[in-house]
Amino acid sequence: MMSSFICMANPARIIFGPGCVAQLSAEVSRLGCKRVLVLATPFQKPDAEQLKAQLGTLAAGVFAGAAMHTPVTVTETAMAAFAAAGADGVVSVGGGSTIGLGKAIAWRNDTPQIVVATTYASSEVTPILGETEGGLKTTRRDARILPETVLYDPELTVGLPVAMSIASGLNAMAHAVEALYAQDRNPIASLQALEGIKALKTALARIVQAPADLEARSLALYGSWLCGTVLGTVGMALHHKLCHTLGGSFDLPHAETHAVLLPHTAAYNAGAAAAALAPMAALFGGSAGGGLYDFAASLGAPLALRDLGLAERDLGKAADLAVQNPYWNPRPVERGAVRALLQNAWAGVRPE
Ligand code: NAD
Repeated sequence: MMSSFICMANPARIIFGPGCVAQLSAEVSRLGCKRVLVLATPFQKPDAEQLKAQLGTLAAGVFAGAAMHTPVTVTETAMAAFAAAGADGVVSVGGGSTIGLGKAIAWRNDTPQIVVATTYASSEVTPILGETEGGLKTTRRDARILPETVLYDPELTVGLPVAMSIASGLNAMAHAVEALYAQDRNPIASLQALEGIKALKTALARIVQAPADLEARSLALYGSWLCGTVLGTVGMALHHKLCHTLGGSFDLPHAETHAVLLPHTAAYNAGAAAAALAPMAALFGGSAGGGLYDFAASLGAPLALRDLGLAERDLGKAADLAVQNPYWNPRPVERGAVRALLQNAWAGVRPE
């Protein structure tokens, strides 16, 4: 018997394929923009400069100050640069940090956004913005935040270091695993989630062997698009709550924290969401948590929170924070069980 559901999709214009970044000027014009500000992190400033040159008179300048977790202070500086340049749109080239800055600008002035995505974090297809101010991270969803156009050019991801590719790919997979058991899941989102997990499973294994394999890079971007799409349409649960807690309050690195926690949160929910997780578990040898752990280990992914800089004495506080205002979760979020999950994830123990 088919369960009842509500299915909603976000508007999206996705341009996909090797070399598709050549279409950037046409996409800028298509949105009616005449002077776009190109955004990047300091590390990717050369990429932003290159796009500025490619855009010619359609570019208003480069702002290469994007930072992890979208600090409001950086956004304010970028807003001033946007106004000073007389810009009428943004092009964000990079991963979640740069995309977050573009979203933060659009949230404030509703400017059109084009994203040239170069990691697998998947923020480019969600209407979600997390911003930090005074050490606190606040997350909001709004239609204004969703980028109008996304260009996925696998050639731009060939240089993404293997370690970052793995962590970022597991970050994307985590969106899809939570979508499978989300309270508001629907058949289309579940199909997308499973397809995204499959694509990333194959792609990441190949990228470890051959980082410049363009076909594997294409498959990874395809998977991250699907995984992000479901994050943008259905809810998040315990896994994302734990990652937000550890990132926001203990400054743990975003993608790596997702990578370490995913097997443990999947194992936590494996009994309560057995039917929803069954097709995913089948891909990983029949066990949601243990299978994901073995897969992460085979890639050489980080496996222990202690290796990311979390002190054992902070586990109790992390558990306290994670059970405050919990997101809906298939299995009740109990402090003792969450504390045990964190202990295992801290030590890097394989979950059963
Ligand atoms: P990132 O954007 O911080 O990128 C990490 C570093 O890698 C940066 O220096 C970046 O310039 C560099 N880089 C990016 N692409 C590269 C490439 N192809 N080659 C070489 N270097 C490259 O990391 P991320 O994991 O993509 O994003 C993390 C941020 O995104 C966090 O702040 C997180 O909260 C946010 N995020 C938001 C959502 C959402 O839906 N709102 C979803 C996922 C992540």
